[in-house]
Amino acid sequence: MQLEQIVTNLREEGFRITPQRIAIVDYVLSTEEHPSAEQIHNVIKKKYPMVSLSTVYKTLDLLRQKQLVKQIEIGGEARFDGHTDEHINLICMKCGKIEDVDEDLKEIQVRAARKSKYQIVKSSFELFGYCSACKTHS
Ligand SMILES: [Zn+2]
Ligand SMILES: [Zn+2]
Repeated sequence: MQLEQIVTNLREEGFRITPQRIAIVDYVLSTEEHPSAEQIHNVIKKKYPMVSLSTVYKTLDLLRQKQLVKQIEIGGEARFDGHTDEHINLICMKCGKIEDVDEDLKEIQVRAARKSKYQIVKSSFELFGYCSACKTHS
């Protein structure tokens, strides 16, 4: 979904949309970084020094309710992923970096559904390890 469309939808539903909130939505949906709320706050603060961390949290809650972001928990910290299409998140256990890998996950779901007779609704794929930078130093 495009940013403008998201903003229009939220506005139609009666949410107060400020430039700060638009900046947060825009950043979260476009970044590849899988940032934490604090990291988002630090980025947005550069442009909007008055924006509070609680505004970031509230906006993230809204995006999560609308299923526009996925939340990933690593070591007790919540990280946010604007890519809601199915993909694998590679998570570095040392520096906390998260990278996306596009893989066809449909087949795994079809097989799992067949074996278990479950109806699969959604999935989340995380692989943990060490990124190329951390691998060489550990
Ligand atoms: Zn790393
Ligand atoms: Zn991701």
